[in-house]
Amino acid sequence: MIDLHTHSTASDGTLSPAALVRAAYRAGVRLLALSDHDTFDGIVEARETARDLGICLLPAVEVTTTLCGRTCHILAYFQDFGLVQRTAARLEELRRVRENRLVETCERLRKLGVDILPGDVRKVAGRAAIHRPHIARALMQQGFVTSTEEAFRRFLRDGGPAHVKFDSPDSREEIWRLREEGAYTSLAHAALDRFDETHIRTLAAQGLDAVEVYHSEHSPIDRQRMKAICERLDLGMTGGSDYHGDTGCRFCEDSSDSRGVPEIIGENFLKGVKRAMDLAPSVRKQHGVQS
Ligand code: AMP
Ligand code: MN
Ligand code: MN
Ligand code: MN
Repeated sequence: MIDLHTHSTASDGTLSPAALVRAAYRAGVRLLALSDHDTFDGIVEARETARDLGICLLPAVEVTTTLCGRTCHILAYFQDFGLVQRTAARLEELRRVRENRLVETCERLRKLGVDILPGDVRKVAGRAAIHRPHIARALMQQGFVTSTEEAFRRFLRDGGPAHVKFDSPDSREEIWRLREEGAYTSLAHAALDRFDETHIRTLAAQGLDAVEVYHSEHSPIDRQRMKAICERLDLGMTGGSDYHGDTGCRFCEDSSDSRGVPEIIGENFLKGVKRAMDLAPSVRKQHGVQS
């Protein structure tokens, strides 16, 4: 089984990296990517567990970017652990942006009569950078809501009364950098975010490698539609559960086209990841960056 999209406590998941790898292994996953939001903090721990279990683990990251004024999540995959340093250092900056955003979100919540402190949320997040699900969990702990889902519906959803837009880099700029850094890039949950062929064409022109056709919340029709777009635009395909541990969504425990991630995806994906790494020196040269 293949799962190329998972989150641990290094971002907004609820399982530690080690526990996540063990749980994926138990679910039958043998090709796994840990793709926390904007950070690689979980990969050292995850790698040790993956080694012990003999599971193939790729370091990855789900980068928050902006496309046409909308939030656009780009998954970036790396051939090996030695390659992630540059990207990790660059993304560290976003942590501060997220911290400022937390303070602003708490102010908005206070105006709505919900008295929650940044410190309450930091306790939930531990060492991770702050994401909205942490705020939702803190709201639950303090009894303001009874579920994460309610927290999003009433306050935190996109455009909701306490949603502070995350000021993320433009997709063009981010893909440009990721290609220099040797990453293989894929548009996360394209159908779920209602990105259409025009958006995907734009991203492809910016250098995107693939689309996450097989996402756990993509219907069979979404998958067919996305697959056809990839074939037309000559893009690769990736797939994963987007597991966060607490959302009811499970690892991809199926390799069918309509529900899981087909095995053929893994082979082509690994070739693409290797190609991205091999091409990086010439991309850097093209961009005029010192190797
Ligand atoms: P942030 O990067 O802080 O804006 O948080 C984004 C994360 O919030 C996503 O990766 C999802 O895990 C979660 N999320 C976004 N919208 C919703 C929603 N409507 N319901 C539940 N979780 C959501
Ligand atoms: Mn998330
Ligand atoms: Mn996402
Ligand atoms: Mn995700």
